[in-house]
Amino acid sequence: MINELNLLKEWQERLGLQDWAITLKINCKQEDLSNPEWQGENNWVSSIKCSTIKIVSPEVHGDDRILKFDFEKTLVHELLHLKFSLLDITDRTYESVVVDDLRHQLIDDLARALVMAKRGETKRKLNCNKLKDMSLED
Ligand SMILES: [Zn+2]
Repeated sequence: MINELNLLKEWQERLGLQDWAITLKINCKQEDLSNPEWQGENNWVSSIKCSTIKIVSPEVHGDDRILKFDFEKTLVHELLHLKFSLLDITDRTYESVVVDDLRHQLIDDLARALVMAKRGETKRKLNCNKLKDMSLED
């Protein structure tokens, strides 16, 4: 947990989220999250700047996915939700659902780019074995 808490502190500072009270729950099981497909989840109340982030264990994530388990990238993704919470829309019109999906994609692209920049990586790492299974690679 020490390493994970250090990463939380590091990215909270980097993203300017020091004034948020964030509870981090690691090694979560699928049933701990609202959707079993998710690797992480963040529940926040922006008016009081409180949030609870849950991230699954590497075992729950498994090896059979296109994207490998990456705790730090998932953490940054969940933290970026707090940055974007200023733009939260509470109604559920068709347009707001589409915007929400697009925002989610943007958040994930940004999380990946930020973590790659920190690590000095330029290529997105995919699970090559999984891609072979899906015949996307020859
Ligand atoms: Zn998300």
